[in-house]
Amino acid sequence: MSAHGQPDGEAATPVTADTLIRHAWIVTMDEERRIYRDGALAIRGDRIVAVGPDADVAAHVDAAETIDGSRFVLTPGFVNCHVHITGEPLTRGYMPDDLDWRTNVMDWLIPTYLAQTPEEERLSAQFAALEMLSTGTTCFIEAGTILDLDAVHDGLAETGIRGRIGQWVQDRAFAPGEDQAAMTAEAIAKLEAQLERYPARDDALLSACASLVGHNTATDDLWIAASNLAKEHGASLTAHMSPDPADPEFYLETCGRRPVAHLDALGALGPHLSLTHMIFADLDEVALLAQSGTHVTHCPMTALKGAYGATHSGLFPEMAAAGVLLQLGTDGNNNGNSADMMRAMYVTAGLFKDSRRDVSLFSAYEVLEFATRNGAKAARLGHAIGALEPGRMADIVAHDRNRPEWTPLLNPINQLIWSADGRGVHSVWVGGRRVVDGYRHTLIDEERLLAQVEAAAPGLIQRAGKTVECRWPVL
Ligand SMILES: [Zn+2]
Repeated sequence: MSAHGQPDGEAATPVTADTLIRHAWIVTMDEERRIYRDGALAIRGDRIVAVGPDADVAAHVDAAETIDGSRFVLTPGFVNCHVHITGEPLTRGYMPDDLDWRTNVMDWLIPTYLAQTPEEERLSAQFAALEMLSTGTTCFIEAGTILDLDAVHDGLAETGIRGRIGQWVQDRAFAPGEDQAAMTAEAIAKLEAQLERYPARDDALLSACASLVGHNTATDDLWIAASNLAKEHGASLTAHMSPDPADPEFYLETCGRRPVAHLDALGALGPHLSLTHMIFADLDEVALLAQSGTHVTHCPMTALKGAYGATHSGLFPEMAAAGVLLQLGTDGNNNGNSADMMRAMYVTAGLFKDSRRDVSLFSAYEVLEFATRNGAKAARLGHAIGALEPGRMADIVAHDRNRPEWTPLLNPINQLIWSADGRGVHSVWVGGRRVVDGYRHTLIDEERLLAQVEAAAPGLIQRAGKTVECRWPVL
């Protein structure tokens, strides 16, 4: 087959399409990583039906609507593999940037999370979708709804974004008198109910993933059950792990093994599992992650802001060399603070070049793989998204080359990673639907949503028992 979905050497048969985008640069991320400098792409329904040189595609596509794409660089939509869409978007940046990991989580995040109402979670999820779509993320894996998955699902459904969502669970009894068996049973039942309520399907924009809080909060029984449920349902399983030495220390003390070795012994590793952070992994764990096909989600902006030690202690270059499937996440709006995957790609490309004084580490090309094809695999959608080619979902970002950072347009990959950011995203299609058009959302009333978020923040912060601190006088 040729790039545009026609048998090689045969006369092209006409293809009908809803939309044909002509004369664009197209970074396909297909098997051969082809880039077209005068390309065309056709969409029918929710899928791409043709991609290739403009002259070839235009000659055989009969489209209801033709768009002049000469202003665009098209890339696959980005996949953000770890983002907190509730809890933090309504309080972005209110936490000081000098909190250690434990203080950040225990004294700030958890009180904020628990103070939310279902209405706030719904609003928060919509606001997170607004930020992600605006900056070219078309699919995300949620880090974990805190309280009300139905409210989050309903809010997201109005935005047009693709996502894998789930209420996170934990079950380990820490306090005396807690009923361990009952806690485990409740957590497993919750996961199973979510996976049945929102089943994984390629054509479902929103479906459930199995989400564990992670760290030391899940018992072995919960790990085993969550892993089996994810596999049975074709869903991904996500958990936080080892952002801090406390996780390896806990596992070594209680199981005699490091976290990844312990998950391996439980049979929980595999392509269904994405572990987020993994800064304190050793080389044996790296080998186990690679052998098992387990994904690792690197959240570089969180590491920078929270002094996690990604470059000091992290083995991300070793993971990449060993074949671990790395992808990127932006984490929370108080842990990295931005959901712009283009910023995450930029930081990823630079961190290890500098810290190890090795320019060969994490090229722009490699980092784009993390944000597209690898992310798609982590979402269990490796066959359906992550590249622009016939048969895949039409999840497309049109970057606006009529901007300084895109001019002159010489090497689009270098420009995408090193020069541009999400503010240059002009249009976005998710499943063939144009959800951003000329910097404007087509489904979300942006002004109204921003006003709602502005109004909701002070009440949530007050109920969390916190105040907004600023070292300088705010008059
Ligand atoms: Zn997180």
